[in-house]
Amino acid sequence: MRKWNFSSGPAVLPEPVLRKAQGAILDFEGSGIGILEHSHRGPEFSALADRCEKLVREVGRVPDDYVVMFLQGGASAQFHMVPMNLLAPDRTADYCVTGSWGQKAVAEAKRFGTVHVACSGEGSQFRALPDTVRFSDNPAYVHVTSNETIAGVQWPSLPEPPDGVPLVCDASSDIFSRPLDVSRYGLIYAGAQKNLGPSGLVLAIARRELVEGARRDLPTMLQYRTWATDHSLYNTPPTFSIYVMTEVLAWLIAEGGPAAMAERNAAKAALLYDYLDQSTLFEAPVARGSRSQMNVVFRAKGGRSELETRFLAEAEMRGLANLKGHRTAGGMRASLYNAMPLEGVRALVAFCEDFERAAR
Ligand SMILES: *Cc1c(COP(=O)(O)O)cnc(C)c1O
Repeated sequence: MRKWNFSSGPAVLPEPVLRKAQGAILDFEGSGIGILEHSHRGPEFSALADRCEKLVREVGRVPDDYVVMFLQGGASAQFHMVPMNLLAPDRTADYCVTGSWGQKAVAEAKRFGTVHVACSGEGSQFRALPDTVRFSDNPAYVHVTSNETIAGVQWPSLPEPPDGVPLVCDASSDIFSRPLDVSRYGLIYAGAQKNLGPSGLVLAIARRELVEGARRDLPTMLQYRTWATDHSLYNTPPTFSIYVMTEVLAWLIAEGGPAAMAERNAAKAALLYDYLDQSTLFEAPVARGSRSQMNVVFRAKGGRSELETRFLAEAEMRGLANLKGHRTAGGMRASLYNAMPLEGVRALVAFCEDFERAAR
């Protein structure tokens, strides 16, 4: 029996996608060859990659002057690839830091140019979004993390960069969880293992002009240009991961797309936060306007860690898996990505209520 998996990533995938993938491993679409065994230059995979890009364009309503890239190395590789391509040594890039992923992105960017922290939630230990943003003079780009997976902090709407300055967004943990207007961005990237598919694969959507104007003196595979020009087929792509992402996107469209997901995700998060806000045992530490709909962070009131340990052990026994908070944050975290059904959140809240009653 499958458990309710609240892992922050690699995370739960839609069950119909997993079942279809099972069959495709043995025989991909009647070709007599499994998806893992097909050449990336063959007609079957070429058609699949085309379909994947088409689905990304459909789900994201991606304008024609944007390129879609399937990158590798995880979202973390974008922390250096972004400044390598877009930040000249004599320029400044602005970073909005709302958690530890943003901090990591800053550390990498500093290797290539000047970084200006335009806003930071560090003062609140990342329990709230910063309330003021101060940009530098003419930054090369503004980088934001739309959802900070560890702290559980999400921008309800992103800060608006100065006129003409590209907005670069790490959307790893909330891409396609709600509608997005691609035309507002210079570049969006997302590691696939939260909302899209297997780990290692990264989806990136970028304004073509930005990619064309990027640096040319970098190693081939570190230039966005290479990925855009060669349709992400310069080297052997992670073919199986692209297959799974294609099926996840098809599932997403069948389920009503990002608008339907936004409604569902809001209902899922509200169910859990509403319970936590009235609980006498647990609390959600993140400020109300800053709370993530994807990663709900909570803990026992009064820092009772022995209670948290017991809660996590009993939750596992009830088939509620991976609720432990990040190793740097402690407490609990329930990740409620697109593929987590409302039913799973209901099961979690019911267990919390039982646990609270028994602890009284
Ligand atoms: C998970 C995550 C990353 C890192 O992804 P990797 O694939 O492990 O490199 C970066 N940013 C955010 C917001 C994430 O949630």
